[in-house]
Amino acid sequence: MDIEQKLALLDQIDGLYDAYAATLSLACQKGCDHCCTRNVTLTTLEAYRLLAGLAPEQCDPLLACLKAHAGKKRFRPAVTTNQLADLCLAGEDPPEEDLDPTWGPCPFLTASVCPVYPLRPFGCRSFFSGRNCAQSGCAEVTPLMVTITTVFLQTIEHLDQAGCSGNFSDLLQVLAPAGARQDYRNGTLGCKSNGLIPNRPARILMVPPEHRNQAGPWVAKLQGLLHQG
Ligand code: SF4
Repeated sequence: MDIEQKLALLDQIDGLYDAYAATLSLACQKGCDHCCTRNVTLTTLEAYRLLAGLAPEQCDPLLACLKAHAGKKRFRPAVTTNQLADLCLAGEDPPEEDLDPTWGPCPFLTASVCPVYPLRPFGCRSFFSGRNCAQSGCAEVTPLMVTITTVFLQTIEHLDQAGCSGNFSDLLQVLAPAGARQDYRNGTLGCKSNGLIPNRPARILMVPPEHRNQAGPWVAKLQGLLHQG
């Protein structure tokens, strides 16, 4: 599959997730920004789509924002979602990770609005809450929502299995030079040499037995998209 086919499939996966989200009762509204922290993670494919979709006059100021926040603390994942699934399958514990939502807002957030909203990665699309986070202090997410969202994350990583994952600011800065995006298209972008983690195929989906019936239709639709691609 070439990069254009992968990008088209990524858009379809996002569309399917929007259809799932439409079945939920959510408190999220435009202007809610509690979930827009510096801890968002994404894949190379999503970062590539975001950068490719920016107008030239939009790109430079946003990249300057990332550089201005470069020294600030942020979540840097040690494992990808599919690596976590492999660890579970092997009966091994995942590594300890350092993640604190109070580390600060996403460098892109401007007056409580996302300037790249249509291009935002899945990690942002899947920030949901059944109650107002500002009032309650935290999001309300059911275990079934976590399961279905995790399957979508696994599928996106599977689609980008030759690529890498990492923190939003780090990955966008790695792919900002045109040469790095060409390397990614050629399959020669080093993950570890760029401080990122290599993606993996989804060998097993993390769906517990109690969620199989309700998650099943979404899993089937995702698999249908992958097989059609
Ligand atoms: S990219 Fe947009 S939606 Fe995602 S955290 Fe940043 S401001 Fe929020």
